[in-house]
Amino acid sequence: MLSYRHSFHAGNHADVVKHIVQSLILNSLKQKDKPFVYHDTHSGVGRYDLTHEWSEKTGEYKQGIARLWSAREADQQNLPEDIQSYLESISILNNGEKLRYYPGSPRVARAHLRDQDRMVLTELHPADHPLLEQEFHRDRQVSIYKEDGFKRLKGSLPPKERRGLVLIDPPYELAKEYRDVVTAIAQSHKRWATGIYAIWYPVVNRCDIEDMIEGLEGLGINKILQIELGVSPDTNERGMTASGMIVINPPWKLESQMNEILPFLKEAIAPATGHFKVEWIVPE
Ligand code: SAM
Repeated sequence: MLSYRHSFHAGNHADVVKHIVQSLILNSLKQKDKPFVYHDTHSGVGRYDLTHEWSEKTGEYKQGIARLWSAREADQQNLPEDIQSYLESISILNNGEKLRYYPGSPRVARAHLRDQDRMVLTELHPADHPLLEQEFHRDRQVSIYKEDGFKRLKGSLPPKERRGLVLIDPPYELAKEYRDVVTAIAQSHKRWATGIYAIWYPVVNRCDIEDMIEGLEGLGINKILQIELGVSPDTNERGMTASGMIVINPPWKLESQMNEILPFLKEAIAPATGHFKVEWIVPE
């Protein structure tokens, strides 16, 4: 089943948190000259036009990046320094002008790549894969596969660079995908224990997340950090109320950086009902 299309959701509050965390991790990898690999298991198309009818239909970006973009202009003084590189990856796509294009995770990553780095992208959707190919046409630092993201990941580890980030961002259309993530981490960590793994998750049914976390805890892996931003309290009604990233082997500064950034994001995106947390699922 491949009915999920990220165009409906691009730039929403969940993308904002995901891509900020992704940018911070990539920044930390750039602290050393040694090359790194960025591996994206569920890539999407790489760039989203927020004037597209699908974006306009849901208007999700208006409650996400559009609010942060306005806050950035209105509240320059309190803008956390550490979100600059994320905002820069958006500015690049828009030539520093009005917000129209939003970068997907591959474009956020590409803005960070140096000559010595590379990225691996997988996208299975028959309509989205060609768009992704087109986005990175003839880019020699980018390899793109129309394959199951988890299979390609398993076959790619350990990477020759021995340092890098894996972003796992499935659509979670099926309950089984939460278990697939745990299996993928178990297999990947055996092959490459020192890699950084960032798993995105939506809070639609809190139980699914609790089960996934329990599964991850059972793997005997240390250093697992949970980062979450909610826009409203958990509910039994339909819809995503929060989202987060679970990061295995996070860079040492990530916890403090997110503790500084999340209060600002909450104020910018959901001042009345928002909530956030940064917690160790498994400490060092
Ligand atoms: N990571 C993207 C970003 O942040 O811009 C968004 C990805 S979106 C949440 C999930 C993507 O996974 C969709 O584009 C979907 O077509 C793709 N997908 C679904 N099943 C997949 C699979 N088994 N392997 C690879 N991609 C898959």
